[in-house]
Amino acid sequence: MALQPVRHESRHRVGLASQHLQDLRRRDFLAGAALIDGRWTAGEHRDVVVDPATGEKIAEVARCSAADMSLAIAAAERAYAAWRDLLPAKRGAILRSWALLMLEHAEELAVLVTSEQGKPLAEARHEIAYGAGFLDWFAAEGERAYGETMPSHKPGSLLQVRMQPIGVAAAITPWNFPVAMITRKAGAALAAGCPIVVKPAPETPLSALAVARLADEAGIPRGVLQMLVGNPVELSAPLLRDTRIRALSFTGSTEVGRLLLERAADTVKKVSLELGGHAPFLVFDDVDPQKAVKGAMAAKFATSGQDCLAANRIYVQRGIYDAFVDAFAEAVAQLKVGHGLESATDIGPMTKLSVADKCRAHIDDAVKKGARAFSASQDASLGPNFVPPTLLSDVTEDMLIAREETFGPVAAVLPFDSEEEVVARANANEMGLAGYIYTDSLRRALRLSEQIECGMLGINTASFTGPPIPFGGWKQSGLGREGSRHGLAEYMELKYVCFGDLTA
Ligand code: NAD
Repeated sequence: MALQPVRHESRHRVGLASQHLQDLRRRDFLAGAALIDGRWTAGEHRDVVVDPATGEKIAEVARCSAADMSLAIAAAERAYAAWRDLLPAKRGAILRSWALLMLEHAEELAVLVTSEQGKPLAEARHEIAYGAGFLDWFAAEGERAYGETMPSHKPGSLLQVRMQPIGVAAAITPWNFPVAMITRKAGAALAAGCPIVVKPAPETPLSALAVARLADEAGIPRGVLQMLVGNPVELSAPLLRDTRIRALSFTGSTEVGRLLLERAADTVKKVSLELGGHAPFLVFDDVDPQKAVKGAMAAKFATSGQDCLAANRIYVQRGIYDAFVDAFAEAVAQLKVGHGLESATDIGPMTKLSVADKCRAHIDDAVKKGARAFSASQDASLGPNFVPPTLLSDVTEDMLIAREETFGPVAAVLPFDSEEEVVARANANEMGLAGYIYTDSLRRALRLSEQIECGMLGINTASFTGPPIPFGGWKQSGLGREGSRHGLAEYMELKYVCFGDLTA
C-alpha cells in the first residue's frame, strides 16, 4: 500500500483532564461519594481514578464494602412497596425530571466521561443524550405494561395475565458506556416499579456517581436507586447471594457474565446479560465501496473500537475487495489519535491497558500469519493505552482477530467469494450480538436477514441502537433484552389469574 499516514503533532497532555475537572461548576460531582440508603457516603477507604490517556490520578472515590452493599439491599427492600404502588405516571414524571437534569448537565457529565473513560468529548456528549433518552422513553413505557386477556378454555371463567414488578433489581455495568448502560437498566427497572442497586465499573465511577446525584435531585425516593463503587468481586457477592435481589442485569465480558449466571442460579434470579460481540460486517460487490467504507468506519471506530457492536470481521466480496481496502486505508489514515479532551481527536486511549495489549496481540498474530497491516500515524509521546487505528487486510479465519473480539481500533478485512460461503463463515462463531450487511439486492437482504445468527442486524446502515429497539444477543452474547418493551419485561413477572364460577 503506497499510502502515507498523516502526521499529527505531539502535545503535552498531562494535567488536561484535571484542568477540565477543576473547571466543573458542580464540585459535588468530584466528591466520589457513594449513594447508600439516601445518604452520600465518602467511605473509610478510597480508590483512585485515573485518566487512561496519561495514567495520572484525577480523583478519589469511596471504596464500598460488602457490609455497605448489605445495607443497600435492605434499604432497597424497604423502599420497594411504596415505589411499586406509586402510579406509573408518577414514576414516569420522576424519570423525566432525571433525564432533563442529565441534559442540563450534559457538558459536565461529558467531561467526566472523557476524563475517566477516554472517548472523544463529542462521543461523550452523544452518550449523555443517548443515556437520557432511555429514561425519557421508559418514563412513558412504564404506563404501557399492559397485560392480556384471552378467550377462556373453561366454561364460566375469565382469564387475565398481569405484568407486575419483580422486586429489587441489581445492575453491574461496564466502563465503555459508563452512563448509558446505567440509564438503560435503571430506566427500565424504575419504570417497572423496581428499586435498583447499581455497581458501576471501577474504571469509570465519577460519571456514574454524578448521574446518581442527578437522580437524587430529580426526586427518586430514598433506597430506590443506589450506587456503590468498589471492588467488583466483593460488592457483587452479597448481590448474588441475597434472596431479596430478584433480577440481575449485567453488561460486560462473556467470561464474567457466565460466572455471574452460575452464582445467580443458587437463588434462581432472573438474569439478563449483555455480553461480548464479534460482529460480522458483510460487503457484497453490488455496493459502492465508498458507501460500505463509510459504514465500516462507523461500525469499527466508534468509541475507539471499544464497543460490543463493533464490526470485528469485515468480509468483502472479491469483486470490490481491492477498491474497498484502498478506500478504507485512506479513511483510516485520516483518523486523529489523541486525548479525548482535544477537539480534533477521533480515537482516544483504551480505557484499560489490557484492552490495548489485546489489540497489539491481535495485530502481531495477524501479521505473523500473513495479514497486511496499515496503521494511522500516532504521536510517539502518547502512553501505553493508545493503539493506532489499524487496518489488517487479507485476514484469514485462523488468525486470533477472526476468532475473538478485539474491542479496540483494529479493523480486520477478509475476502470472500460466494454468499453461501460468507453466511457460513459469519455464523461460525459462538458470539451473536450484532451483524451488518451491505448489498443493493433486496432479495439478498431479505434472505440474509433470516440467515445471520445475531440479535441485531443493520442492513446498509451502521447506526441502529436507541430506546425503542430490543438490544441483546444470541448464543454466548447474552440473555434477555434491554430497551424496548422487552427491556421493561426483564423487570416484571407475569401473573395469570383465572376468575372462575362466573355463571349467575
Ligand atoms: P468485565 O466483564 O471485566 O467488566 C464488566 C463489569 O463487571 C464491571 O462492572 C466489572 O467491575 C464487573 N466485574 C468484573 N469481574 C467481576 C467479577 N468477578 N464479579 C463481579 N463483577 C465483575 O468487562 P471488561 O473485560 O472490562 O469489558 C470488555 C467486555 O465487555 C467486552 O467483551 C465487551 O464486549 C463487553 N461489553 C458488552 C456490552 C454489551 O452491551 N453487550 C457492552 C459493553 C461491554
